[in-house]
Amino acid sequence: MSAAAPSSCAMMDLFGRRITYVRLSVTDRCDLRCVYCMSDDMSFLPRDQVLSIEELDRLASAFVALGVRKLRLTGGEPLVRKGIMDLFAGLSRHLASGQLRELTLTTNGTQLARHAEELARHGVRRVNVSLDTLDADRFRALTRRGTLAVVMDGIRAALDAGLKVKINAVALAGTTDREVFDLIDFTHSRGMDLTFIETMPLGDVGVDRIDQYLPLDRLRAQIETRLTLLDTPEQTGGPARYARVEETGGRIGFITPMTHNFCESCNRVRVSATGILHSCLGQEEAHDLKTPLRASPSDELLHAAIRTAIRAKPKGHDFVITRNGGPALSRHMSALGG
Ligand code: SAM
Ligand code: SF4
Repeated sequence: MSAAAPSSCAMMDLFGRRITYVRLSVTDRCDLRCVYCMSDDMSFLPRDQVLSIEELDRLASAFVALGVRKLRLTGGEPLVRKGIMDLFAGLSRHLASGQLRELTLTTNGTQLARHAEELARHGVRRVNVSLDTLDADRFRALTRRGTLAVVMDGIRAALDAGLKVKINAVALAGTTDREVFDLIDFTHSRGMDLTFIETMPLGDVGVDRIDQYLPLDRLRAQIETRLTLLDTPEQTGGPARYARVEETGGRIGFITPMTHNFCESCNRVRVSATGILHSCLGQEEAHDLKTPLRASPSDELLHAAIRTAIRAKPKGHDFVITRNGGPALSRHMSALGG
């Protein structure tokens, strides 16, 4: 079989999990500094270490050739990456060919107003927008610099462009518990899904994580004091579990990497903007794809490196928020995109 031929087993790991979903970080940079994600004085990678737009296209296309069906661009903030629309335009050829089923992104929404229509033109159908609060002052404090109205404009533009929008909110004590019903009302009244994410102890962010941590079972119990949650059996291959709210008809997702084990159905790997493949969010293991990518204009070495990395995907992870609030893993979420 040629190296480029799609293979049903190329992306199968040793535990029988088929890897069909890649999250590719296109930059570690961001225009915000969310308190749970980065420190205020975050230092970013030298630009020459980050893959070029052409290299990102080649890398993503290699995964597609090997059988990946869903590609999510993330960051850092993907929409602050120079040339990002060229990457979407280029990758849309895999949608047109039918090899890729979904091309999507996770964004903080600050640049969505000017890009939403073009994203839709390139075949993006759904977008995840991160938004933790509907209060402008709290938004400024949580992001250390953001303007809520700008993100609201972005969300509106995405909906107007016909994109399905899912709002991701990190569950934070003192914020989410105060706003949970407003967030449900805001999203469900506009046809958007809402997903809550438990904070993960990745990277030093300059604040104590024990103070931020809000377990989702507590949030869920709070929701159920007023609303009826009907669990849905959908499996995403990821850590999200969904429930439908009887009163609104909308969906709420709960992503609980800290308290539940979802590893046996994991269908995804993550690649950093420097071309490092991490086959498990909760383990330190890493596989360099930049070297084989740059070593040869042919994709043979790259395909071999991807196969090796997939075979080495660990069985699972074990996150713990330590007593002093220190990170269980040293890398930041922004290096990998969540
Ligand atoms: N900048 C984009 C955004 O904010 O949507 C994409 C990258 S961001 C790292 C991806 C997701 O990770 C966001 O939804 C963000 O809220 C989430 N995130 C960041 N740090 C996290 C942490 N420590 N625990 C859980 N989720 C986190
Ligand atoms: Fe930037 Fe997203 Fe991290 Fe916030 S969560 S600092 S928007 S990368």
